[in-house]
Amino acid sequence: MDFLSEHKKNCDQCGLCISVCPSYGDLGILSDLYGYLSESPKSESEPVSLPKNPDHDIRLCYTCNVCTVTCPQDLGIRKLISLAREKKTKEFGISDEQRLADPFSDNNMYKKIGEWEKPVVFKNEGKACDVIYFPGCAASCMNKVVGKSTAKVLDAAGVHYSVMSGIDYCCGSVAFGAGNKEPLLKIGQKNIDEITRRGAKILVTTCPGCYRAFKIIYPSLFGELGFEVLQTSEYFLRLIQEGKLTFKRDMTQYLKKSTPLILYYQDPCHLTRAAGIYNDPRRALQAVPHVSVANPSPQDSICCGFGGGVRTVFPQKSLSQAAKIHGAAENSNSDVIITNCGGCMKNIIESGYNSKSRLLVYDLAEFLSLACGNPPTERDDQKLIRLSNTALIHCLSNYDFNPYDG
Ligand code: SF4
Ligand code: SF4
Repeated sequence: MDFLSEHKKNCDQCGLCISVCPSYGDLGILSDLYGYLSESPKSESEPVSLPKNPDHDIRLCYTCNVCTVTCPQDLGIRKLISLAREKKTKEFGISDEQRLADPFSDNNMYKKIGEWEKPVVFKNEGKACDVIYFPGCAASCMNKVVGKSTAKVLDAAGVHYSVMSGIDYCCGSVAFGAGNKEPLLKIGQKNIDEITRRGAKILVTTCPGCYRAFKIIYPSLFGELGFEVLQTSEYFLRLIQEGKLTFKRDMTQYLKKSTPLILYYQDPCHLTRAAGIYNDPRRALQAVPHVSVANPSPQDSICCGFGGGVRTVFPQKSLSQAAKIHGAAENSNSDVIITNCGGCMKNIIESGYNSKSRLLVYDLAEFLSLACGNPPTERDDQKLIRLSNTALIHCLSNYDFNPYDG
C-alpha cells in the first residue's frame, strides 16, 4: 500500500499532530493534501491546483517532524507534505527557492556569498586521511564560525584530518528536502567515491542536513558506504572519552557569569527527530567544568523556524518561530543558547535582534573551542545576517527582507 492510501486508511483524525505543529492550525491540511495527492493532471498544460487555503500552503511546513513523532499511527503531516512538494516540482518545474540550494545552479545562495566573501580555507584539503571533516556549504561559505571552530577543536584534540569543503562538496540534502532530488542523485556517489579514494575510516559532518544525507539518504540510494559517519557532537564526545579533548578554561569566569553557567541546548530538528542525536551534544557540553544544561532531554524542543524553506519564503514567520527559543531559554534562566546547526544559529541570532534577547548564542564547536582555551573564533553576526539576506535578494525576484542593511 502506498503512503497516501495508508494514511487515509489509518489516520483516525485524532488531531494530535495539529496540536503540536508550529505551522498548521487545523486538520483541513490533511484533506487538502489528500485531494492534491490523489488528483491527476487533466492535461500537461493544466496541472493540479495546490491547496487554495493560504493557511494550508505546502511551503509553510518547517519539516521539523514534530507531527511524525507525535502521531500514534506513525503518520503525521510531514511525509504528505514531502510527497506534495515532489509532485509540485514535477508539475510546475524547479522554483527559484529550490534553485537556491542546488549546487549546479548559478543561483545557489552559497555560491553567491562565496563570490563576495572568500569561503573558509581549511588546511589539508584534498589529502588522504583516516578522518575527513565535511563542513558543508553553510559552514564553509556562510556561517563560517562553525567550520573554523570545528577545525580548532579537532586541532586541540590532536586529530589528523583532511577536509572536503565548500560548494564543490555540497551533500545535496537541502535541495532534496525541498522536493528537488536531482542534485543529490548526481552528487551523492561522487562524494562517496572521493571519501573512499582518500581512504577515510571516519567522516565527520557538522550540518544536520549533511549528516542525514550521509547517514540515512546515501546508504538507502547508493548502498553501504564503507566508512563511519559521525556528527561533530558524536566525534567530540568520543575524543573526550578517549582523553584527547580536555577543557582548560573556566567558561563561567570567561563569560563573567555566576556558577554554574547555565546552557540551553537547542536541538536541531533534523538532528534530533530525524536522526536521533540529542544525548551526545549534551554530554560533550557537560564535560566542560562548572556548566549545567538547562534542558537535559529534547522533550518539548522547539523548531528554530529555519528549515523546510520557510526562512526563504516567509522570513517574518520563520523569525517569530526562532524567537520562541529565546523565550524558552530565558524561562529556564539560561545564560547561553548553544546551537548545533548553522541554519538554527543564524535564525536564532537574527530573531534575537528583534526580540532584544539578553542571551548569548554560541555554536557547540565554538563553545567547546573556547573551553579548550583557544582564543575566540572570529565572528561577525551582523555581517552574517546581512550577507544571507542580500544573497536571498539576489537569488529571488520576490524577496525584499533585509531590515539590517545600511
Ligand atoms: S496524529 Fe496521526 S492519526 Fe492523529 S490526525 Fe494526525 S496523522 Fe492522523
Ligand atoms: S513537520 Fe513540523 S511544521 Fe511540518 S507539518 Fe509536521 S509539525 Fe507541522
